[in-house]
Amino acid sequence: MEQPKSITGGCNCGGVRYRVDFAQNHDWKQGPGTCQCTQCRKMSGSLIFNLHVVPISAVTWLSKATYAEYNSSAQCFRAFCKDCGSSIAWMDRSIDKEIELAIGTFDEEFLVGARDAEDKPLGAYGIALANPKGNHHFIRNEIQGVTDTHTRKGTRFWTVSKDGAMKDSEEGN
Ligand SMILES: [Zn+2]
Ligand SMILES: [Zn+2]
Repeated sequence: MEQPKSITGGCNCGGVRYRVDFAQNHDWKQGPGTCQCTQCRKMSGSLIFNLHVVPISAVTWLSKATYAEYNSSAQCFRAFCKDCGSSIAWMDRSIDKEIELAIGTFDEEFLVGARDAEDKPLGAYGIALANPKGNHHFIRNEIQGVTDTHTRKGTRFWTVSKDGAMKDSEEGN
């Protein structure tokens, strides 16, 4: 699985832009994950929210012109673009060294790559950036026959990671 050294991303209108420089020892299994909690669904507008955990020091903000934060709980906030509404990130203030970036805001050239003459993608880093064998949170909210197929691989959590993995989690990467 080919892994990028660095990627860029941003919101729909371009008011928020960032670069991520991945450390050589970046954890490509624990980094990518999904969440199906109701807050992530409401904020992203999607049934499954794909997030990638990186150290805050790995993120360089190239533009914060329209950057805003919403306190979704006493401890956590969600970063978004106040002009176009893109969900950018989630962060727990008590784990202040890490930020979870919304994978859907990673630029297409890194997720999908260039295309051939027939518009077929030539391949990029999508499988590494959104590794389906990563951590899957809030399995309790899975919708049978709709979202459950996305979380069969990897480590599954009934709610949050600190409560421990479910017994049906797959090991290895
Ligand atoms: Zn925007
Ligand atoms: Zn969530």
